[in-house]
Amino acid sequence: MKTLKIAIQKSGRLNEKSVELLKNCGLNFENYKSSLISPVSNFPLEILFLRDDDIPEYVQDGIADLGIVGENVIQETEVEVSYLQRLGFGKCSLKIAVPNNNDIQNLSDLNGKAIATTYPVILGKFLKEQGIQSDIRTISGSVEISPGLGLSDAICDLVSTGGTLKSNGLKPFADVMSSEAVLIGCKTIEDNHLVQELIQRIQSVLRAKE
Ligand code: ATP
Ligand code: ZN
Repeated sequence: MKTLKIAIQKSGRLNEKSVELLKNCGLNFENYKSSLISPVSNFPLEILFLRDDDIPEYVQDGIADLGIVGENVIQETEVEVSYLQRLGFGKCSLKIAVPNNNDIQNLSDLNGKAIATTYPVILGKFLKEQGIQSDIRTISGSVEISPGLGLSDAICDLVSTGGTLKSNGLKPFADVMSSEAVLIGCKTIEDNHLVQELIQRIQSVLRAKE
């Protein structure tokens, strides 16, 4: 029987909940922070600990059969994978936010404005759908300080409580997408009986939480 591989985030916002979910499924493994791969002792499965940005492509390419990652990352990387199960954690929204004191009232006021983001693909599609032409400035982090530094007029970033926006003098302005952690699989894996078994275990863990 072929051993499956599931990729989860090595450290960060989704790591703990991903590990907890798999443990609650009755899977027995060591959660070594230092190792990249952990074998499961009571199921033909190996756990790969990766940066979340790499997970969609690993799954698309079949290096991992399954993965747990935020929908935002999947949409941004534009990979071809199957959505197998929504997992109910890691909930957040990708929002456009603007400085508290400014003249941006309507979406059309974003025409010609600079928007800083780490999500240029998703933001680009959203603006296109809305018929708006902004200057998308792709940066790799600390997006929320860019209006204050005069680098952009607005930002597009992930928000959960809104605390980070507030402490940077920003307010939410438009919802671009909402996201949560999902179980994804490579295109050919859905019918695999071990995958089905795992999905069933995950579903009963989720049901028990309701
Ligand atoms: P990595 O080191 O793996 O690349 P990261 O810094 O890119 O990690 P995290 O900040 O750990 O990513 O976020 C992982 C995921 O958690 C996000 O892609 C998103 O789906 C989800 N998430 C939930 N709430 C938030 C939030 N408030 N801000 C950012 N991400 C959030
Ligand atoms: Zn990342």
